[in-house]
Amino acid sequence: MRGNLMKEVDILVVGAGPIGGYFSKKMSELGCNVLMLEEHLEVGKPFQCAGLINPSSMEKVGLYDTVLSEIDGAIMHSPFGTTIEIGKPNKIRTYAVCRKKFDQAIVQQAMIEGSDLWLNSKPIETEYTEDSIIVKVSKDNSIIDVKAKLLVGADGAHSWVRRHHRMGYPKEFMIGYQIEVTGFETKNRMLEMFTGEDIAPGFFAWAIPNGDTYRIGMWGRPEDLDGRSCEELLNNLMTKSRWASKFEKCKEVGKFCGPIPAGVVPRPVKERILLIGDAAGLAKPTTGGGIGPGMAQVDHLTSDLNKAIVANTLSKKKLVKITKSYSKAKKEFERIRSLRDFFVSSRTDEELEEVFKIFSKPEVIKLINEKGDIEKPLALGISMLKNVPEFRKMAIKAGFIVMFT
Ligand SMILES: Cc1cc2nc3c(=O)[nH]c(=O)nc-3n(C[C@H](O)[C@H](O)[C@H](O)COP(=O)(O)OP(=O)(O)OC[C@H]3O[C@@H](n4cnc5c(N)ncnc54)[C@H](O)[C@@H]3O)c2cc1C
Repeated sequence: MRGNLMKEVDILVVGAGPIGGYFSKKMSELGCNVLMLEEHLEVGKPFQCAGLINPSSMEKVGLYDTVLSEIDGAIMHSPFGTTIEIGKPNKIRTYAVCRKKFDQAIVQQAMIEGSDLWLNSKPIETEYTEDSIIVKVSKDNSIIDVKAKLLVGADGAHSWVRRHHRMGYPKEFMIGYQIEVTGFETKNRMLEMFTGEDIAPGFFAWAIPNGDTYRIGMWGRPEDLDGRSCEELLNNLMTKSRWASKFEKCKEVGKFCGPIPAGVVPRPVKERILLIGDAAGLAKPTTGGGIGPGMAQVDHLTSDLNKAIVANTLSKKKLVKITKSYSKAKKEFERIRSLRDFFVSSRTDEELEEVFKIFSKPEVIKLINEKGDIEKPLALGISMLKNVPEFRKMAIKAGFIVMFT
C-alpha cells in the first residue's frame, strides 16, 4: 500500500489546531523541518470552545488582535441563589478570543517560522523503518508517503494518532455544549457561572462575553447527566431556573458541542510518536481549558526534543524522558480533580450551597482574589483548605489531610 514518496521531514504534525500550531512554531524556530496536516479545508473551523485564554498563555503568542473581550472576574451563582463576585476592575483575569482567528494566527506564526501546512489532508496508515516512520497521507485525491523522524498527534480529543497506535484514553471525557446568543446582559467585563443539579450536575454553566455576543454553555461528565442531554440542561438554565429572566431577550446565533479530555493518557509516547494537547488528555479537570496546559507542556519539551531530532534518537525510552513533565501534569491533574470533587463535583445542591456560603465570606473572597489563577487552581484550593477554618474541618472529615503533605 505504498503511495508516492513525495516528502521527507523531521516532524509530521497531525492537526493544525492551537497546540499543533504552537508546537510547530516552536520546533521550526529551533531549526526543525515541520509539516502540519489539517483534515479540513480551512484552519480554525469548526471549533468547539468558549475561547478563554489566560494572560500568561496569551503572552506566549501575543495574539491580542484576536481578543473579543477582556474579562476581569466572575459572578458565581450557587444552586439556591448565593452570589459571589471575584476579580478586580481592570485587572484582566482572562481573555475571550475568536477561536477561528486565534487558531489561524498561531498556524500562520508556525508558517512564518518555516513550517509547511497541507490542508484537506489526514494520515491513513503508518509504518516504521530503521531510521524513520513513514506515514501514508491522504491529501486531496491522492495518497502520499511522508517520511518523518517523528510523528506528532495534535489531532484533538478523538485523536487518530492515539487510537491508531493504541495509546489509551484520557481519564475523563466531559461533554461541553454551548450556544452563542445576542441579548444577554451582565456587568461589564465579567463572566457568569451557574451551578445546580438541573443545570450542570457536578460542574457549572457559563455566560461569557464575546464582543457583541455571549457564549452560554455547560459541561459535565456523561455519567452525571443521568439520561438528560446537555441541550435539555442548558434549556433548564435559560427557561426554568431562578436566573431564567436574564436570558429572556437571548436569540441564538450559533451552537457548538464537543468533548473535553481531562487526564493525561496512559501512553502519550511510543517509538517515534508523541501526543500533545487534547490528544494527550491535557485539558484541566476544573475548567475544561486545554490551550494553556497544552502550550505549557509544549514549552517543557521542545528544547530536549530538538536535540533528539538532530541526533535522530527517538526511542520510546528517550521520549518518555523528554516528556517527564507529563507525569508531573498527570499527578497535578489528579490532585486538582480531587479538589474539584471535594469542593463541587461530589456535592449535592444543599452541600454546594454551604460551600458557597463559606466562599462568600469577605476573607475567603480576598483569598480567592489574591491566589486565584485559572491555570493554577491547586494553589488556591490548598490555600483554602489550609486557611479557611470551615473547609479545614470538612477536609479533615473527608480525609483530605493528604492535600497538605
Ligand atoms: C464547549 C467547549 C468549551 C471550551 N472552552 C475552552 C476555553 O474557554 N479555553 C480553553 O483553553 N479550552 C477550552 N476548551 C478546550 C479546547 O477547545 C481544547 O483544549 C483545544 O482546542 C485543544 O487544542 P488542540 O490543538 O489540542 O486540539 P484541537 O483544537 O481539537 O485541534 C485539533 C486539530 O486537528 C485536526 N484534526 C483532527 N483529526 C485529524 C486528522 N485525523 N488528520 C488531520 N487533522 C486532524 C482538527 O480539525 C483540528 O484542527 C473547550 C472545549 C469545549 C468542547
